[in-house]
Amino acid sequence: MRIIGLTGGIGSGKTAFSALLRARGAAVINADRLARDVVAPGSPGLAEIVSTFGEEVLDASGGLDRKRMAARVFSDRDARVKLEKIVHPLVRAAMADEVQRLSEAGTPLVLYDVPLLYEAGRERDVDAVVVVWAPHEAQLARLAARDGLSAAEAEARMAAQLPLDEKARRADFVVVNDGTLEDLAAKADALLSDLSRNLPKGSPKRY
Ligand code: ATP
Repeated sequence: MRIIGLTGGIGSGKTAFSALLRARGAAVINADRLARDVVAPGSPGLAEIVSTFGEEVLDASGGLDRKRMAARVFSDRDARVKLEKIVHPLVRAAMADEVQRLSEAGTPLVLYDVPLLYEAGRERDVDAVVVVWAPHEAQLARLAARDGLSAAEAEARMAAQLPLDEKARRADFVVVNDGTLEDLAAKADALLSDLSRNLPKGSPKRY
């Protein structure tokens, strides 16, 4: 089974594109969902976080208070490393479980949706990478419409990631999300068709 990484920049359309891939029957594993699942209420992951950071990182219902946890690790590098040491191995194990389950079911291809794939050095874990790219102006407009972000707020968040153009340069496949959602759907069809034919890696192919 081949594992294809799927990534992009904020507001570039990764979520929209992975929904289109799923709707076409593709197996998509979402890294953010795995990271939430491994610290869900009652999980060993959450128990380890509480024993490391104390109950003050829990919300009223006993779940992880993500805002509080984020604030705690934002300015404290040691705390961040501790949190990553708990969460990352659990995510890797959950990913391995899902890959094994899909592989046993005869799935030929799985897409692994990792928003910060390059930032986290995860391109080494996948056979090829798809980057969903969008023009800067489109990213700003979509972030304003979806999250009510001002241009300055959107720019600040983008500055915290590897530039999207750089991700597109490193990718094996680049999906240019500069049109309508129907255009994006046609690109999902084209990409899946190419991936099913086992195209060799090389300079990025654009859709
Ligand atoms: P983030 O990493 O910030 O969550 P993302 O890359 O997952 O972003 P999406 O959530 O897929 O981005 O897209 C951002 C917003 O733009 C969403 O509201 C989505 O529906 C919309 N959108 C994405 N692509 C298009 C398009 N081609 N036409 C119109 N709207 C789009």
